Amino acid sequence: MSDSPISGAELAKLTVDLNRLARNLWWTWNQEAQEVFQELSPRAWQNLYHNAVAILHEVSDYELRMRLQDSEFARKAREAVGIFNAYLEEKNTWARENAPALVQNPVAYFSAEFGFHETLPIAAGGLGVLAGDYTKSASDLGLGLMGVSLFYREGYFQQAISPDNWQTEYFTLLNPRNLPMEAVRDARGDPLVLPVEIANSQVLFQVWQVNVGRCTVYLLEDHRPENDQHARDLTLRVYGGDRTTRIMQEVLLGIGGVRVLRALGIQPSVFHLNEGHSAFLALELLREKLVEGKRFNDAMEWVKDHCVFTTHTPVEAGHDRFDAGLMSYALGRFQKQLKLSTAELMALGRAHPKDENEPFCMTVLALRASRAANAVSELHGQVSRRMWRALYPGKAENEVPIGHITNGIHLMGWMKGKNRRFWKQRLGPDWEKGVNTQEFWDRTSDPAFISDEELWAFRYHMRRELIEFVRRRLLLQGRQLDKADFITYDRLLNPDALTIGFARRFATYKRANLIFQRYNDIVKLVKDPQRPVQFLFAGKAHPHDDEGKRLIQQIIHLSNHSELQGHMVFLENYDIHVARQMVSGCDVWLNNPRRPLEASGTSGQKAGCHGGLNLSIMDGWWREGYDGKNGFAIGDDSHPGSVAEQDRRDSENLYRVLTEEVIPTFYARDAMGIPRQWIAMVRHAMTTLVPKYNTWRVVQEYTQKYYLTH
Ligand SMILES: *Cc1c(COP(=O)(O)O)cnc(C)c1O
Repeated sequence: MSDSPISGAELAKLTVDLNRLARNLWWTWNQEAQEVFQELSPRAWQNLYHNAVAILHEVSDYELRMRLQDSEFARKAREAVGIFNAYLEEKNTWARENAPALVQNPVAYFSAEFGFHETLPIAAGGLGVLAGDYTKSASDLGLGLMGVSLFYREGYFQQAISPDNWQTEYFTLLNPRNLPMEAVRDARGDPLVLPVEIANSQVLFQVWQVNVGRCTVYLLEDHRPENDQHARDLTLRVYGGDRTTRIMQEVLLGIGGVRVLRALGIQPSVFHLNEGHSAFLALELLREKLVEGKRFNDAMEWVKDHCVFTTHTPVEAGHDRFDAGLMSYALGRFQKQLKLSTAELMALGRAHPKDENEPFCMTVLALRASRAANAVSELHGQVSRRMWRALYPGKAENEVPIGHITNGIHLMGWMKGKNRRFWKQRLGPDWEKGVNTQEFWDRTSDPAFISDEELWAFRYHMRRELIEFVRRRLLLQGRQLDKADFITYDRLLNPDALTIGFARRFATYKRANLIFQRYNDIVKLVKDPQRPVQFLFAGKAHPHDDEGKRLIQQIIHLSNHSELQGHMVFLENYDIHVARQMVSGCDVWLNNPRRPLEASGTSGQKAGCHGGLNLSIMDGWWREGYDGKNGFAIGDDSHPGSVAEQDRRDSENLYRVLTEEVIPTFYARDAMGIPRQWIAMVRHAMTTLVPKYNTWRVVQEYTQKYYLTH
């Protein structure tokens, strides 16, 4: 690269390119691109919560041009743009070889939530994060896939904690201008506005486009001046409002979503219903076929031929059910176009179509309207086949046509900078190409590639980064600080202690407080001067879930007012950013759901590539991932019938594994101070888990098992 001044033409081009780069979420999983935005304003990078678009607003065009006169910075910007363009133009993708049919006729992937990045908080939890990770991998693989969801202007709630440690919720308004999204426009250049029938009105909605690498995700929003007041805020909040809002959101997502694709001339080869929320899309496809003159049964066959469905939870409350009154109210005008009676409509969502007392279940509609269905782990597959067997009279439980594909994560999106830089330095600029493969992670078992000492240094670095993040964050969380607080906070937690993390939604079945059933014993563990243990918690309870909020209250109370103080913290406002810090810095990732209610779980998968070890109930993905040497199992591959007995047994087993396996192994140090056996487990976890539990494998599996088989 020459150091001669940058030409006016190149300057103009680079400025445009950086703006284009900021508006494609690809930068969130590319280190070089991230560093460019961060370097532009390290302070804004922190304050604006890693928002590249907002940073380009913060930095004036004049400043940007002047900064690009710095030849080193210009070189980095050019490099990032170059990698980005090469990515977009790459012809030699997996899908080109393996799924060329999906280029012309893509997969339409419908999901009520997508979790891409902390600046676009339109996900409530694991389901959305999975959808986001899935889309990123679809892009990496060059798969023809479009996402469809809603744009929630107030996003998912932000969590605050009241003085009595009770979760309260508040909302901040998202500004599309400051986000990586743009309005989809019609032929005249006006924002595309489409109608959908909800209750007795026609509701208009507009469409936003989010660029996720090579993939596009469309977000629908009904906040339009043409709409009545009550129909204007349906998309305000993720799963916001009451049952009526919920069903109306689902009408918009399913029916409106199909109309967006039609308006844009997209003819999907398959509609993928990621969870039942979007199942009304089947009714719109049905309507289209009836309008074309098909008879009901033939139309239904067509629909069934074009949909696949993934169910994500065995928890009953996770399956939307609506009674006949609400159904005919919300679908009123649309139902007339379908020419179905309420009884006929209800039958589509009932396990027993003639049972007039049975509500309409979105999962039942999704199963009836799909050519194939799957659960998200092997055990979840078993449980789902039992749960929905009434839909398949005459079939034995094991013949119920619900398969499984175990979830994964998008590795590049979860790997922290330190981790990415390590690999780049070792393997060179093209290091990312193999990041999902077995050969790549096999290197971590080779002491000549990375020594125990280096691996341990890496773990120390990650743990310290986390602890310093926690100290900063708690300081900001704290109210009315004085100078002494800064010192107190800087002493919080112990960078040498075995650090155990637990962060996820505070749903009751996840039992965040299970470990404190042995409170007195845990106090002894954290206070052990030779072998201290400390705990980090984070997570949000559903706004209506008082039991979940009580768990949070108890955990905060313990961390502030018990003997655990200083050895245990609760981080407020869990989101993707907090998750990234926690999964990378914790030595042990704890998961103790009430089996078999954790359909898959993914947060533990995020720990693997950072050298964290899982300590988990044999549920969801861990039941498949655990091999006896790559982490720790709580209990075995079974569970008792009674919940009380299960809680008692799991808490005993958790404590036993913690004290007999986890702590002794972590603190078994040799003369050099290195925990050889622990590191051997870390190496083994990396080689056995990371190449498998990623969305690169997951997307390929869906493509081969569900998208292309027909
Ligand atoms: C990964 C992730 C989840 C899912 O966590 P589980 O342990 O699988 O429930 C939820 N929320 C966020 C923000 C995540 O990053």
